[in-house]
Amino acid sequence: RAVLDQRLEKTQANFGQKMKQLFSFKKKIDEELFEDLEATLLMADVGANATMEIMEQVRKSLKRRNLSDADAVLEALREQLTELARQVEAPLIIDTTKKPYVILVVGVNGVGKTTTIAKLARRYKAEGHNVMLAAGDTFRAAAVEQLKTWGEREDIAVMAQKTGTDSASVIFDAMTSAKARSMDVLIADTAGRLHTQSNLMQELAKITRVIKKNDETAPHETLIVIDGGTGQNAISQVRAFNEANKLTGLVITKLDGTPKGGVLFNLANEFGIPVRYIGVGERSSDLKPYRAEDFVSAILD
Ligand code: GDP
Repeated sequence: RAVLDQRLEKTQANFGQKMKQLFSFKKKIDEELFEDLEATLLMADVGANATMEIMEQVRKSLKRRNLSDADAVLEALREQLTELARQVEAPLIIDTTKKPYVILVVGVNGVGKTTTIAKLARRYKAEGHNVMLAAGDTFRAAAVEQLKTWGEREDIAVMAQKTGTDSASVIFDAMTSAKARSMDVLIADTAGRLHTQSNLMQELAKITRVIKKNDETAPHETLIVIDGGTGQNAISQVRAFNEANKLTGLVITKLDGTPKGGVLFNLANEFGIPVRYIGVGERSSDLKPYRAEDFVSAILD
């Protein structure tokens, strides 16, 4: 909790702190105050739709209870934010009857995909699972090397082939190998950029089809990694990837570096896809399972 509070302080300054300031300047709860609150949500990247929704519910809730003091407004806001945050709280649980439990990781380059894969592998290994990685971003030689080097250091098997090899076949072969070695978890990296976006989406759709040929219940989790500081762009990324491959979870990274962590509410409102983890720093312990209440209090209090 304390770590989270500290890492999310940029968003807190731009969110909870600003809201409290609004109330301390104003004696009266009026339309102008509501507009200022709305602007605060928008500035933190909560997004137009989610902001409208939240403010409407806040007004309704105040009316219902016939309250209009500052404390009641803040309380109603907290309730609405918490409710939205809770809608996407669903921790990722490894199903150990699947051997391997296949986690496909997608997202555009630079969002922290490779780092997140390493952090996840470490976490699952520490929990006692046998973990294998598949270097499926065959488009970037550096990505394959990065995973291999990291795997050697951490004593985690990394299945890789030559750059340019078909990504789907790298992942298919890794699944076969993981099965033979009785692995619990296989985390597969994928490309984050190809010549064009439609190429990328086609390739990802193909990966899922090929994975299903190996195990029709897989992938068991399709995670998208989103940079928490990308604003509206986060919405279009999730939409595009979700069309190619049904996403089952989100990882929102770099929330320590942005005052705009409200993007989580925007994503929650738009897609309702569970947020599995949040990234709040570069170290491996900085990938935290997402807990709605901890998140809300870190950015509000
Ligand atoms: P990829 O291109 O998506 O594979 O991105 P990388 O995993 O190489 O990460 C890009 C950069 O973002 C690296 O410098 C990471 O250390 C950094 N990064 C990843 N996650 C976080 C995070 O949660 N917080 C911070 N501050 N940096 C992060």
